[in-house]
Amino acid sequence: MKGDQRIFRAKIMGYCMGVRRAVEVTENALADANRPPFSPPVYTYGPLIHNPVALARLSARGARVLSGSFADIPADFAGATVVIRAHGVPPVERLELVKRNARLVDATCPRVLSSQKRAKKWHDAGFAVILAGDRNHGEIAGIAGYAPGCIVLENKEDAERLVEYPARAVLISQTTIKQSEYDAIAQVLAKKIPDLRVFHTICPATQERQKALEDLVGLVEGVLVIGGKNSANTQRLFHTAQNLFPHAWHIETPEEIPAEARELAAIGLTAGASTPDEVIAAVEQALQKV
Ligand code: SF4
Repeated sequence: MKGDQRIFRAKIMGYCMGVRRAVEVTENALADANRPPFSPPVYTYGPLIHNPVALARLSARGARVLSGSFADIPADFAGATVVIRAHGVPPVERLELVKRNARLVDATCPRVLSSQKRAKKWHDAGFAVILAGDRNHGEIAGIAGYAPGCIVLENKEDAERLVEYPARAVLISQTTIKQSEYDAIAQVLAKKIPDLRVFHTICPATQERQKALEDLVGLVEGVLVIGGKNSANTQRLFHTAQNLFPHAWHIETPEEIPAEARELAAIGLTAGASTPDEVIAAVEQALQKV
């Protein structure tokens, strides 16, 4: 299809509010680091986002990544700027960074911050705090830090396996958990815990991108899903695209556009919540090139 391929962009795609903010905060910190009284280096506390293109761009501007292990903190660390990423961080780790004289720049997503505050408030009020989500995910680790002794459940089966139930508890979800999974966990717990308060802390960003992708059905024969191969929400979009369209491809860069995609009369574009605008634009431009 040379030149007359129709391209449909999903109405909502790419950076979510929290990721866009984290990238902007880091870019500002990098600019500030070259102006007195600040000085380089600028670290991010773990990789800022799940996108290799965005990480390479920040790295080229001088951002370094702290592994999250204090054993790996370099000798020239004192006075360095450290950006807390959108997932947030447990309070003990925040304190440890301050003790080591880091200048903290907080890019915790406001939605995650609100879950952290809620966990602390109810823990302090004597309620058991139950978190639904991936126990190895930075966001859950961060929230758990505000409610010592909290219970983490990854799925309904975990909830069923719980043998000792508190009399009163609050349930808070990871922002990216599937609504159906969260509802299933809440239903199991509601049968066991007399006073259970369920908070609706799922972020709409993932759902909005899924819905915008579904809206392309009937308009296109195939979809390019743009984003990091390690990005969970991009993988989920790709999975949905595979189910909804005759053709679907997951690519990170314009160079990965397959020849078959260029042959379709109409193609759709979507992108995960950690995919930079420039990468989406570059893919679109590459498709328009004859
Ligand atoms: S997905 Fe939602 S909660 Fe997570 S960073 Fe983006 S806006 Fe914040």
